[in-house]
Amino acid sequence: MSKSITVVGAGAIGLSTAWELSQRGFDVTVIDKSVTGRGTSWAGAGILPPANLENSFDPIDRLRGLSHQLFPEWAEKLKTDTGIDPGLQRCGGLYLAETVGEIAAMSGMTEYWQEMEIECKQLTPDEILDQEAALADWWHKTDNAAVWHVPDEYQLRPPSYLAALKTACEKLDVTFIENTDVTDIRCRGGRAEIQHTGHWHSGDDRIVLTTGVWTGQIASSLKLELSIVPVRGQILLLKTSRPLIRNIINMGQRYVLAREDGHTLIGSNEEEVGFELGTTGTVLNSLMDFATRLLPDLKSAEHVKSWSGLRPMTFDGFPMIGPVTDVENLYVAAGHYRSGLHLSAGTAVLIADMLSEVTPQIPIEAFQIRKQPGNPTTRSFTTK
Ligand SMILES: Cc1cc2nc3c(=O)[nH]c(=O)nc-3n(C[C@H](O)[C@H](O)[C@H](O)COP(=O)(O)OP(=O)(O)OC[C@H]3O[C@@H](n4cnc5c(N)ncnc54)[C@H](O)[C@@H]3O)c2cc1C
Repeated sequence: MSKSITVVGAGAIGLSTAWELSQRGFDVTVIDKSVTGRGTSWAGAGILPPANLENSFDPIDRLRGLSHQLFPEWAEKLKTDTGIDPGLQRCGGLYLAETVGEIAAMSGMTEYWQEMEIECKQLTPDEILDQEAALADWWHKTDNAAVWHVPDEYQLRPPSYLAALKTACEKLDVTFIENTDVTDIRCRGGRAEIQHTGHWHSGDDRIVLTTGVWTGQIASSLKLELSIVPVRGQILLLKTSRPLIRNIINMGQRYVLAREDGHTLIGSNEEEVGFELGTTGTVLNSLMDFATRLLPDLKSAEHVKSWSGLRPMTFDGFPMIGPVTDVENLYVAAGHYRSGLHLSAGTAVLIADMLSEVTPQIPIEAFQIRKQPGNPTTRSFTTK
């Protein structure tokens, strides 16, 4: 079996896959239509919620557990090998609920965490203020609110993580071909070939598509257009002279997290606007209102910038990780939605296990490539 691998897409999934494969002795080339690490992964907040591999049963919780177990060692190795600190910190998370519905939903969530033996505790008023004094104003003004503390939540700095992965790959002689759009994929004699720079490229390489939200577009013949769809999320970045909070503060789908240098991220929302990037005043104002209601001191923070990213959503919530049926050399690792940074380590290990022909560390059936029923009729992925 050939040791040459072409990874298409240099986001968190592609770079971590390339790094894992190169460490296992594969000869890896990474191609990206842009510069490395400027897709969705760059836009992510970098929250790694708690997970436990040993006591989880749901496939996505197993993958999250595997990644969670790998991350501290990965981050340390990246730092040692490259001198770039990916900013992994076990900062903990607070989960806030105000309404009866939110409290019920969080109670269900905490019961589920407890079943997986993930440490989680509902805090008393004193404990809340011990954890985060900056929440005092919110806590005193809000009747019947509840707060849970989860110590095993991490934060990561996505741009540093991506830079460290790229440097680690380069040190292992991974070849990077940037600003090169892979425009099509075809299958000949049961093997996939990719088209870029105006030519079809065949060879004995195995190809891994880690093209995130664009995976459906790259080869219409794969019929994945409706299987992975973009869901935009916006983030607002503020700066205070020192961090106002230690924990990541989560409430529903929104969160506030502070970096050690006082940069404070406020996210996020979900919008279906196709492949359009951009921020809107309405969403940024609502993020600011959300954050300043919890942490009034943010009102005087410096506004640094805002951005958006396109999350690759699948219709059943599971990423697709595995071989494409009937094509001997084509694999996909995409569709990680809100968790691609977190799941990157586990995904890389699973793909590398498959390509090394060793039994994957967790069951992979739930992640096989799935076509959304009702996909528009397109060319089928056959020999042409
Ligand atoms: C606002 C926001 C907050 C988020 N927060 C978190 C979080 O806290 N924790 C977490 O785990 N996840 C988070 N996510 C989700 C996470 O960012 C994604 O799941 C993850 O980045 C997907 O990684 P990827 O490598 O699959 O995609 P990408 O990072 O998008 O990489 C795909 C790459 O493929 C390249 N490409 C595409 N098409 C082609 C082509 N035809 N030819 C060549 N190259 C191509 C692109 O240029 C890109 O570089 C967040 C996302 C958003 C938007």
